[in-house]
Amino acid sequence: RLFSLCREKKRTRVVELTEKMVVEGGCGGSCEWEGRWNHIKKFLERSGPFTHPDFEPGTESLQFLLQTCRVLVIGAGGLGCELLKDLALSGFGKIDVVDMDTIDVSNLNRQFLFRPKDVGRPKADVAADFINSRVPGCHVIPHFKKIQDLDERFYRQFHIIVCGLDSIVARRWMNGMLLSLLVYEDGEVDQTSVIPLIDGGTEGFKGNARVILPGVTACIDCTLELYPPQINFPMCTIASMPRLPEHCIEYVRILQWPKEMPFGDGVALDGDDPEHIQWVFQRSLKRAAEFNITGVTYRLTQGVVKRIIPAVASTNAVIAAACTTEVFKLATSAYVPLSNYMVFNDVDGLYTYTFEAERKENCSACSQVPVDLHFPPSSKFQQVLEYLTESTSLQMKSPAVTATVEGKSKTLYLQSVASIEQRTRPNLSKSLKELGLTDGQELAVADVTTPQTMLFRLCFTS
Ligand SMILES: [Zn+2]
Repeated sequence: RLFSLCREKKRTRVVELTEKMVVEGGCGGSCEWEGRWNHIKKFLERSGPFTHPDFEPGTESLQFLLQTCRVLVIGAGGLGCELLKDLALSGFGKIDVVDMDTIDVSNLNRQFLFRPKDVGRPKADVAADFINSRVPGCHVIPHFKKIQDLDERFYRQFHIIVCGLDSIVARRWMNGMLLSLLVYEDGEVDQTSVIPLIDGGTEGFKGNARVILPGVTACIDCTLELYPPQINFPMCTIASMPRLPEHCIEYVRILQWPKEMPFGDGVALDGDDPEHIQWVFQRSLKRAAEFNITGVTYRLTQGVVKRIIPAVASTNAVIAAACTTEVFKLATSAYVPLSNYMVFNDVDGLYTYTFEAERKENCSACSQVPVDLHFPPSSKFQQVLEYLTESTSLQMKSPAVTATVEGKSKTLYLQSVASIEQRTRPNLSKSLKELGLTDGQELAVADVTTPQTMLFRLCFTS
């Protein structure tokens, strides 16, 4: 059933394609050479033990990849460079790439589409230029933008979206955007409104690749519990029972720096300033010596201060290859796609497996069911906000809450605009009852983790 959706899209697009070719004449033979796509044809022009049961070998699929299929790559960093190269060499001829960053010299060891002369230029532009000049017939369109600056109409153009992001917030936003594009008929998703999302992620020697059919299979928010919140050591460990070199560095960073202000009042610790790191390093060494802890180094100090997890080129290569394979399978309908989550780990030896992440019945992003919030009427509004940010299944960042009270829409709290924050701050210490909220009340919540406003229902407990 999963492919029928892609197949349907494909058929309509193939018709568009034939019409278009008549107009443009297509790029057709001019940029092709004998045997150029033999490696791809082996997968598409003959059947085999692993082909999809409904697959009919033919030349149509390759033409679809070369001329029609539009793939959007989110991110042109470590994963993005690999994705663009893999897609272009797999026959995808129409690719868009979105990235808001510019190239830093520290990217060059693994983001191989960039050269020293490109430092300072937008990643999306340079990556697109590189692929366009190196892979004849492939056309990459760059977008030097934030994903949030592009709208529905933009995202709707694509057959498949691949994410190579390092931020969970951005991933969740993308997930929310694709969910917002779904069309429901009698509670059923209209399959033609589904744009598959292939999501790759890496962290050091660990990575994952997953296939998400929004509204059909588990979405990013369904499995939010799999992403642990940022590692923070408990304060008591840092302050009184350090066991690891990291604990000592955190002690200096969190407690000693603000107390001593070694570089003047109000000077914040800058992870890129070698003098700052040197100071933290020396203090951390002292602290470590007191507790007989070894392993504090300058490098580790900088890593902890900047929260760096080293990027590993080979992990990016593996995950991007896995993602591209899934894009290929979905675009051609020739093979059964991953169902739906692949885990890769080569920290110690090599370990990998797949599993089927399940949809969460009451997923706040994809279930269409308003999530209930259970609080006694005497709870302070602050507690509701804390729940929204701390609950492992919601993990919001700076929720803005509005409700209709006595027929009027009222902003209960909003953090991002200073004047409104100031005006609504007193609400935090008021009880739900004092705010005029009632049992069954709907709360509309906006947050950076999603482009849509989420609806919650307040349920009073006694
Ligand atoms: Zn979900």
